[in-house]
Amino acid sequence: MSRHEIDSNPLCPACGRLLNAASAVDGSASMPGGDDVTICAYCARFLQYIDRDGVLTLRQISDEEFAELPEKARAGLTKARLIVYAVTAAMQTHPN
Ligand SMILES: [Zn+2]
Repeated sequence: MSRHEIDSNPLCPACGRLLNAASAVDGSASMPGGDDVTICAYCARFLQYIDRDGVLTLRQISDEEFAELPEKARAGLTKARLIVYAVTAAMQTHPN
């Protein structure tokens, strides 16, 4: 399993939903830390963790920042975004 509870309970800065669990985009079991990139499972915005004295918060990353990420990170995030879009579309098509 690659899903983990995060103590800090960071909120998505774009949609305000609580993101208290994360799945590493590379499928590894690593916990997110400062500077790691992720995606909001609700609004599909690309985000970056910021470690403030051990408390993780999230900020949105710009298109320019995304373009500067390593290719592997960009590929993982792009794949994750397609999954979020697919899940969101499925939920809208089939409520509950
Ligand atoms: Zn969001």
